Amino acid sequence: IAISSANGIRAVTKAVELIRFGADALDAVVAGVNIIEDDPNDMTVGYGGFPNEDGVVELDAAVMHGPTHRAGAVASIRNIKNPSKVAKLVMERSDHVLIVGEGALRFAKAHGFIEENLLTDRARAEWLKWKENLSTKDDWLPSHTADDKDIGGILAPYHRNTGTIHCSAIDLKGNISCVTTTSGLAYKIPGRVGDSPIIGAGLYCDNEVGAAGSTGRGEANLVNCSSVMIVEYMRQGKSPEQACL
Ligand code: ASP
Repeated sequence: IAISSANGIRAVTKAVELIRFGADALDAVVAGVNIIEDDPNDMTVGYGGFPNEDGVVELDAAVMHGPTHRAGAVASIRNIKNPSKVAKLVMERSDHVLIVGEGALRFAKAHGFIEENLLTDRARAEWLKWKENLSTKDDWLPSHTADDKDIGGILAPYHRNTGTIHCSAIDLKGNISCVTTTSGLAYKIPGRVGDSPIIGAGLYCDNEVGAAGSTGRGEANLVNCSSVMIVEYMRQGKSPEQACL
């Protein structure tokens, strides 16, 4: 069984396919979300994700493995398309749980990951629109004609996009694992880390109980560590829905 956020239909399909062939739940969910990370049309995850306020894509991701209760994560990593794979390597090939920024990039490169530009033209155009519409008190202007007298009046309300993918699965051995990966809050302050790479907030699993993960406004989750709370409420006997609520 695999479950994900709404943007993960292809991820759960892939995960279940691999699990049917005997894959470990963690390998299955990571392979599933890699499809979404690679997809430039999902502008909330991986390649093509919305950039930070400087127009630079910074990604967060984490994995958790039920049978060993180990976890790995990267935050604010630039130029690497599949942060979920790097998070898994942090778990498997380091004695740390979370590596951020420049250190995360160097760790990824040490493991053979290639740096690439993650900013697509579509994401850059959306970022530029946001920047141009942000304020009438700076020098960035949205496109307009010479007849437009009141630039402030024509500023369209800009939209702060959110989105992420979480995927949890249980494999044929009954083992549970999960992954969360995201480009985070669109136009965030550079270096901002959301809930997604924080174990207990953006995701959590306990092999005896279940798993949970999140999307949405990360700051709200960071102060509540909702994923670990959900798993603990389920341990106490609440249904998944009641535990989430
Ligand atoms: N939870 C993510 C974050 O705050 C963003 C999202 O899911 O929309 O970084």
